[in-house]
Amino acid sequence: MTAGVSTPPREAARLAQLLRSSERAVVLTGAGVSVPSGIPDFRSPGTGLWENVDPMEVAHIDVFRRQPDRFWAFYGERFASLRDKQPNAAHEVLAELERRGLVRGVVTQNVDTLHRRAGSRRVIEVHGSIEQSVCPECACRVPVERVLELLAAAPGAPECAACIAPLKPDVVLFGEMLPETAMADAYALAAEADLMICVGSSLEVHPVASLPGVTLESGGRLAIVTQGPTPYDDEAEVSLRGDVVAELEAVLAALD
Ligand SMILES: [Zn+2]
Repeated sequence: MTAGVSTPPREAARLAQLLRSSERAVVLTGAGVSVPSGIPDFRSPGTGLWENVDPMEVAHIDVFRRQPDRFWAFYGERFASLRDKQPNAAHEVLAELERRGLVRGVVTQNVDTLHRRAGSRRVIEVHGSIEQSVCPECACRVPVERVLELLAAAPGAPECAACIAPLKPDVVLFGEMLPETAMADAYALAAEADLMICVGSSLEVHPVASLPGVTLESGGRLAIVTQGPTPYDDEAEVSLRGDVVAELEAVLAALD
């Protein structure tokens, strides 16, 4: 086990048992699953990139519309920083659970694409992802590699080659609605789930925070793998409070 509050191994064994006995398990992840990859939770103050700027202020749809160059001066750094990161063992365990047919998919609040890069196939990104940027005029989509080239070549907002309009990252900015299709998929998975495993999320950001409630109302069970408290702690069947990597590796080991 690595650092963190240690959880008795029987909790990991209990979650392994729940996984074995469930038929429609789903995973919900938040920023905590990517922290071991070196991606700070931007809601924690004083962390790296976000230290001198209020993301609620700059990563806002109004700033993108009115001052695209200022928006991209900030967001371009975030793109480059996220693109450098690699999936960690927590992402890999979750991909392995899907390969084994033990979970149906992952609903994530993260935009870093690390679940896909770790091998998860059914990933519902309810806050979008950095994988593509979109032209607001012609709706053409530009891959992140090209966006990074454009950012490196010229200061300011990267533009659509055809329309000369500033591209918008395909992520949900502050002040924007969540993508309807992704949210509908997430709600359907949550309603059908007989087990939801919440990993690395404080479950406080709505509307994603309501998904565990959807599973509970449908008679499903809840497991929590998160260091901090959540509003669902009293209703969880099992809670793993240690380091997210160590806990998920213990669950995988308990399955073997
Ligand atoms: Zn265009």
